[in-house]
Amino acid sequence: MRGKFVYPFSEGHKDMKSLLGGKGANLAEMTAIGLPVPQGFTITTEACNDYYDNGELIRPEILQEIDQALIFLEKEQGKCLGSDQDPLLVSVRSGAVFSMPGMMDTILNLGLNDKSVQGLIAVTQNDRFAYDSYRRFIQMFADVAIGISKDKFDAVLEKAKEAKGIKEDTELSSQDLQEIVTAYKNIYLEETGEVFPQNPKEQLVLAIEAVFKSWNNPRAKVYRRLNDISQTLGTAVNIQAMVFGNMGENSGTGVAFTRNPSTGENKLFGEYLINAQGEDVVAGIRTPQSIERLKADMPNIYQELLKTTQLLEKHYHDMQDVEFTIEKGKLFMLQTRNGKRTAKAAIKIAVDQVREGLISKKDAIMRIKPSQLEQVLHPTFAPDDVQRAECLTTGLPASPGAASGQVYFHAADAVREAKAGKEVILVRQETSPEDIEGMVSAKGIITARGGMTSHAAVVARGMGKPCVAGCSQLLVDEVRKEIRIDQATIKEGEFLSIDGGTGAVYIGSVPMAATNLDSDFRTFMSWVDEEGDMKVRSNADNARDARKALEFGAEGIGLCRTEHMFFDEERIQLVREMIVADKLETREKALAKLLPHQQGDFYELFKALDGKSCTIRLLDPPLHEFLPQDTPSITKLAHQLGLGTHLLEKRICDLSEFNPMLGHRGCRLAITYPEIYKMQARAIAKGAIQAIQEGYHVAPEIMVPLVSVVDELRILRQLITETVDQELEEAGISMTYRIGTMIEIPRACVTADEIAQEADFFSFGTNDLTQMGFGFSRDDAGKFLGEYSEKGILDKDPFQVLDQKGIGRLLEMAVKLGRQTKHDLKMGICGEHGGEAATVSFCYQQGLNYVSCSPFRIPIAKLAAAQAKISQVGNSSSRNQ
Ligand code: PEP
Ligand code: MG
Repeated sequence: MRGKFVYPFSEGHKDMKSLLGGKGANLAEMTAIGLPVPQGFTITTEACNDYYDNGELIRPEILQEIDQALIFLEKEQGKCLGSDQDPLLVSVRSGAVFSMPGMMDTILNLGLNDKSVQGLIAVTQNDRFAYDSYRRFIQMFADVAIGISKDKFDAVLEKAKEAKGIKEDTELSSQDLQEIVTAYKNIYLEETGEVFPQNPKEQLVLAIEAVFKSWNNPRAKVYRRLNDISQTLGTAVNIQAMVFGNMGENSGTGVAFTRNPSTGENKLFGEYLINAQGEDVVAGIRTPQSIERLKADMPNIYQELLKTTQLLEKHYHDMQDVEFTIEKGKLFMLQTRNGKRTAKAAIKIAVDQVREGLISKKDAIMRIKPSQLEQVLHPTFAPDDVQRAECLTTGLPASPGAASGQVYFHAADAVREAKAGKEVILVRQETSPEDIEGMVSAKGIITARGGMTSHAAVVARGMGKPCVAGCSQLLVDEVRKEIRIDQATIKEGEFLSIDGGTGAVYIGSVPMAATNLDSDFRTFMSWVDEEGDMKVRSNADNARDARKALEFGAEGIGLCRTEHMFFDEERIQLVREMIVADKLETREKALAKLLPHQQGDFYELFKALDGKSCTIRLLDPPLHEFLPQDTPSITKLAHQLGLGTHLLEKRICDLSEFNPMLGHRGCRLAITYPEIYKMQARAIAKGAIQAIQEGYHVAPEIMVPLVSVVDELRILRQLITETVDQELEEAGISMTYRIGTMIEIPRACVTADEIAQEADFFSFGTNDLTQMGFGFSRDDAGKFLGEYSEKGILDKDPFQVLDQKGIGRLLEMAVKLGRQTKHDLKMGICGEHGGEAATVSFCYQQGLNYVSCSPFRIPIAKLAAAQAKISQVGNSSSRNQ
């Protein structure tokens, strides 16, 4: 067993997060820079892991270290745990390496027992406060350390308030609270058969064990899974001397952000409650006041808080989220951490902080998670529609974005209905960490209670989900599953729409609009562009999509799937005519009719791109995909083509395959029907000539799909070259063009050195490569992949996130072999993975020249690429082609 497991706050610093957890490291740092932090010590994450390794027991050596740290703390504070004169009370809090808000457990006021509560009364001269602290401690301890439901205790509290006809906890007298303490202890005895533990050291050990255990509670596990946090890090535990926000009107507690976490505005933002303890604010039990009010209520404290938070932001070079407590007019800092924020706020803050000289452009780029950008690219409500919509109520704009859906009142219902394909709005009185899966499934969240820093608000913002919190006019009846407001009732399954940016809740389903990307976003993306050296192209199949892709910042088209042109209503008939032709001559006739259409499409595409790269893939899917399958459509087509129905049926039957995705598709089609690719090559050449003659720049890249043997490419390359060159010669035009191939079959990867002899470029088709590498049908794998993830066999769906270990190795091999043959062979990726951040980073490391993805994901891919470059893990040789 290794040395030290316990560190007093005075010994650590901010860079010890992996050992002390985020909270512990920052408490130590705040202590080091002289801020008013209640003192304490941190039990390390290694101690937590040791606890699990040791069969869920804290080893005696570690217990001894804890004892020593406690003695040190008692000396420093001049107070003793459990004393009947001025007792020391402590909080016991979890503190993981990466923040997991509300996911693990906390116990406050530890050290109270029947004896020390008298000590607390003696020193504070406030028996109401002492009993209030004691009853809170019993409830929290019983809930967290022993697992007795807190509802049992709440019921006693509610009954006491009802009996007195009061609403607020603060209205309970000392006598009431003393009786409540007795009732709470009785609950403890009934539930456990034991008296509430009176020995504070026993309380402490049980509390520490409870925090260690909470690392593995189900909601914490889900949170880690969702946020890609390793399950093996363990949590630290912080033991800290208590300060009290509930000692009267000159006390209070709150949370604040150095900048607005929703909008990014550079202004202290937060909430606080007078005469309350921290969990009252976070749990949304009482609706807190805006921090602005503190300016009026306690101007000196406000100024001190402002100064402290500004100092913290400068010190950490990032927006901070702090917790503070005011005890009898004195400010204490309980926590600081980098604040969670919406994507919009993250971009604004990063851009502002660069302008303020606080961080560099590179820092700004590294601050934004690529996946966060999806939030800013999300749609909002269409302005006209939202104006017409009927507003049901307005709550707090807790997390921006717009969503419409059917209302459900329980997390489990939300999960079930979302699985069944419904868009769900989760409506709760207030959310708690148990609701996390329901929140994941929902499109948006409404709560009746709780403020801007309530659980619902914080978690929804982290998830990038719209949330309207604290809709106090709504009566949310979770039992009858309905909302009542004035005369109206909204029942389960009815539609509501919410705008988390304004706090409005609308009746019915309001249509969405495309997002306007603001100037901060554009500034940010311009820095990303300056930094990035891997090109980002888009998959687009026509001029309209290509223009949209360019608007999103695409540097060219990485994949134009020409079969999509075939599906156009006008052409499909001609395509079918070509397919059912049983003689070369009739097929060529049909192809000749298709040619001008294809030529027109390419001409438009080249015009839209005007010299930017344009990779055109020749026909890929099996031919029967273009033919009708049901009898009425077959009869109709037979009639249109002047064929007998039987003949057509026979042709369809001839074309049908057991495994079409492994069948007669891709370049195999052109090996048997070369005239198809010939027509397409001619159409590309003619479209290009037409555009060039009008003064446009054109440099097509013609791509052959599904090559597995070099000779396939050799034969087709010759065919394409002859066709294109003949057209160019006839037109008297010269044009540079390249012929390359998709690498999407494992055999192509392992023989990439041979294939490279015939290719001017490679484009990795990771959809098919994943399909064929795993042997998972891309159309059917969805049926079982969910279970693979649940059972931990595969972390992620390999069709969404490239499986770097397996499929990635194939890609790596192909890159190496390909560049062995041609050292500057241009390479890119055009499978769905091309817009996924981790895959983009992987492609960067492999030295690919570009990634290609859907238009909407271009900013995400660009950011991931720039981050990969900054992280300096890439091999950028010959990237700029
Ligand atoms: C691929 O296989 O990755 C690819 C881009 O082609 P398609 O999805 O059209 O098969
Ligand atoms: Mg493919």
